[in-house]
Amino acid sequence: MAQERDIVNLRNLIKNSKRAVFFGGAGVSTESGIPDFRSKDGLYSQKYKYPPETMLSIEFFRSYPDEFYAFYREKMLVTDVLPNAAHYKLAEWEKEGHIAAVVTQNIDGLHQKAGSKNVFELHGSIYRNFCTKCGMPYPVQRIIKGSGVPRCACGGIVKPDVVLYGEPLREEVVEGAVEAIKRADNLIIGGTSLNVYPAAGLIDFFRGENVVVVNKGAPAKDMRGVTFIDGKIGEIFSMI
Ligand code: NAD
Repeated sequence: MAQERDIVNLRNLIKNSKRAVFFGGAGVSTESGIPDFRSKDGLYSQKYKYPPETMLSIEFFRSYPDEFYAFYREKMLVTDVLPNAAHYKLAEWEKEGHIAAVVTQNIDGLHQKAGSKNVFELHGSIYRNFCTKCGMPYPVQRIIKGSGVPRCACGGIVKPDVVLYGEPLREEVVEGAVEAIKRADNLIIGGTSLNVYPAAGLIDFFRGENVVVVNKGAPAKDMRGVTFIDGKIGEIFSMI
């Protein structure tokens, strides 16, 4: 449970920051109604024919595009949700000059919907889609409205610009995120189990003053010397 003292300290830290970075994950969007992976009602606790890591892998996409798209449309392609207080506060702090960048593992586009400008989407976005054969871009509506495997006019399969398990992260996105983290005066981490690599490893580039973790339960990584605020990030940020 977050104490009054935690809120006051976090408020001061943010107000004194000039180029803080927020590093987040699926837990940032649970208060918007999108399930994460590892909470007790997350996708990993639900029963599927294959584990989510398998169904969200590049091998599965290539071998069973029909099954990939059935799962992806049902569970990952969520566009009719709104940002929550965590997304809005981060956008506000960026506007005020306290936050320099948001580095997210999420693919839901909610930081941008809330108004954040400098967002590094480590795992891509459901809003961008392209033909795997000719590179033609397709809007997300094309994926939502169609059924089965979406195909390009050239015959190629359309793939979401989402980094699937087994795919490398985009170099330019990683470089931008690392640069922002290296330059950051403070680092705020939230809504992530820090289980997914290489994304979770990027926080090791931080050389600044303070690290604060705002999460429901402690993340997987050893976070000695770090301030940990246990609770829902939207609720906590809305008190700042
Ligand atoms: P995760 O599911 O492994 O961990 C989420 C963490 O957030 C857990 O520690 C959980 O206790 C915490 N959490 C849940 N709700 C919270 C809240 N309201 N406030 C604070 N903490 C909360 O997610 P991850 O670390 O991001 O890694 C898994 C992968 O999930 C990422 O690669 C990401 O791409 C993918 N993912 C993204 C979305 C999305 O775009 N919204 C949804 C599901 C999964």
